[in-house]
Amino acid sequence: MIPVITDIEEMRLWSKSKRLEGVSLGLVPTMGFLHKGHLSLVERALKKADYVMVSIFVNPTQFGPGEDYNRYPQDFERDAQKLESLGAHVIFAPDSTAMYPTGYSTYVAVEGVTEGLCGRSRPAHFRGVTTVVSKLFNIVMPDVAVFGQKDAQQLAVIRRMARDLNMSVEIDAGPIIRETDGLAMGSRNMYLTPEERKQAAVLYRSLCAAEELVKSGFTNSRDIIRKVREIIEEVPLAKTEYVEIVDIDDITPVDDISREALLAVAVWFGTTRLIDNVILAK
Ligand code: AMP
Repeated sequence: MIPVITDIEEMRLWSKSKRLEGVSLGLVPTMGFLHKGHLSLVERALKKADYVMVSIFVNPTQFGPGEDYNRYPQDFERDAQKLESLGAHVIFAPDSTAMYPTGYSTYVAVEGVTEGLCGRSRPAHFRGVTTVVSKLFNIVMPDVAVFGQKDAQQLAVIRRMARDLNMSVEIDAGPIIRETDGLAMGSRNMYLTPEERKQAAVLYRSLCAAEELVKSGFTNSRDIIRKVREIIEEVPLAKTEYVEIVDIDDITPVDDISREALLAVAVWFGTTRLIDNVILAK
């Protein structure tokens, strides 16, 4: 069976001994309840590094009050089986009290890039993400870490953090893996009722429509955003939180698609918040 390390010091030693052998190390950070999206990142990491570590840690500091920390889905046995059959080398599953012991008081906060899109409704979220990712990098010292384009703002934030803090890790990104009707795979999709699940396919439909608009010559962000909102709002159970077109690196608004730009959406279905995005290019 794939080794599971829960102790931070043991993980550090495992990594260190591998590094001494001169092999390269890849890390895929996750919160578990793995689906094909996560697994595609593991496959990517396996191509880029000799040994691949997958962390499974539901990180309390990235959840806001009233969010789903206490009911976040988990199935460790199933995750371990999937990782084993893919050929990942080790699971790092630390305890939250070991990661955040009594008196814990250090956070990594990236400014600017964290303030738009999801940062508006989830003000402490990215600080939790950058803190835990920094901790994971310090513990396992990977050569490469793989993240999903699904969380495009998170990716921009982590790239910025790694650059600004001179972290010696390559940040790699894998494409969004989707269900057959286009819904981006996500651990939170399981919260959707059957009707919400059906209607949630509108997200991808709206992103494809935006791509078509750009292909047919539309470049004005306001026009594209209006169309995307219209499509989403045709669906009765969808409540739009945001539809925005922003710079891929800075997450600042882009008025005109004269170069690549990120179209990002956040939409509520009942109590479930879904995000999705596409990179638009003229
Ligand atoms: P999570 O467990 O939700 O924190 O996600 C762990 C990693 O998997 C993050 O880098 C996500 O961006 C990535 N991820 C989640 N869903 C998908 C997906 N559908 N396709 C590709 N990557 C994904």
